[in-house]
Amino acid sequence: MRIDTRPIDALLPELIALRRDLHAHPELGFEEHRTAAIVAEALRAIGLEVTTGIGGTGVVGTLRNGGGNGSLGFRADMDALPFAEETGLAYASTRAGVFHGCGHDGHTATLLGAARHLAATREFSGTVHFIFQPAEEGLGGARAMVRDGLFERFPCDRVFALHNWPDLPLGAARTRAGPIMAAADKFTITLTGRGGHAAMPHQTPDAILAASELVQQLNTIVARRVPAMRSAVLSVTKIAGGHAHNVLPASVSIMGTVRTFDVAVQDRIEASIRAMAAGVALSTETEIAVAYDRYYPATINDADAAACALAAARAVCDDVDVAPDPAFTSEDFAFMLAERPGAYLWMGQADSTHAAPLHHPGYDFNEGVLPLGIAWFTALAEQLLRPE
Ligand SMILES: [Zn+2]
Ligand SMILES: [Zn+2]
Repeated sequence: MRIDTRPIDALLPELIALRRDLHAHPELGFEEHRTAAIVAEALRAIGLEVTTGIGGTGVVGTLRNGGGNGSLGFRADMDALPFAEETGLAYASTRAGVFHGCGHDGHTATLLGAARHLAATREFSGTVHFIFQPAEEGLGGARAMVRDGLFERFPCDRVFALHNWPDLPLGAARTRAGPIMAAADKFTITLTGRGGHAAMPHQTPDAILAASELVQQLNTIVARRVPAMRSAVLSVTKIAGGHAHNVLPASVSIMGTVRTFDVAVQDRIEASIRAMAAGVALSTETEIAVAYDRYYPATINDADAAACALAAARAVCDDVDVAPDPAFTSEDFAFMLAERPGAYLWMGQADSTHAAPLHHPGYDFNEGVLPLGIAWFTALAEQLLRPE
């Protein structure tokens, strides 16, 4: 059954204006005070029960209809990124160095549109919680909401979210059972020698040479310690140390990221980093400290919920298929999927004027995603909370 999008189209001028206003006034993670206030006001205006201040700046709007016992959680993210926009758009960011470079302005407008549409049409029986989370970009806003009792206060049988996806054309949708986005870990390794005159290297452990050896070894971990049928990425992204051409520095630091889809591989990589660091410390007489932070777990879709997400997408999009592979980027919605079964959907946004990838200074959310996203959330509610 195809969703009738005409009533959704009537909402679009207002939603586009709202999304451009959010775009012009971006806010970083846990600082989304203006955005959250706009969201709460918009939800109250359509008669939803609204709760603010969940996990910081998180907002939940609750819509009940009929006598059904089922409940769904639909999630959008509200935060922007700390870098400068270079789109030249009329509604470009008015805040220096803060930019909706991941389209969360569009996700927020989409979910508000879904709330408005479902509040008007009410072709479902049960409860829908519209979850607006803070701080998706690396700060764990979803974890903060979960720790603040999100699912105890707003019970959800299943949770769903979408992300606009520049790797797919507008009108396409993909998801898959199991892993859809990677676990993201970061490591910081500090190598300490003593420091001294560069002309007398025999007098101090050489932290620069030790760091060089360690970087080489770290790059063998995925190739030689992870089974070839499993996938993982390890990237060293920063080396810092040294001041002058004739001074051996006392310390050097290395940073990097690890991306995995299962905990056994993640454990193996962390253990390998620690073992290699210990080995290099022994052979170079440096001291090496490893800090390893597993900040986002893998985003794992429930198989049945992923099938429901694809079924709902077929009522909306022309090009719907199972995603053949997960992505190596990560997603805070993982913390919600760790608590409740659900699924995360990629909705295509590429067209002739929207070619830039996520987190690129020329990126802009494609407003063509708005009606598709609203219709997808609507289809989920109507298909999963069927009136008796
Ligand atoms: Zn992002
Ligand atoms: Zn994003």
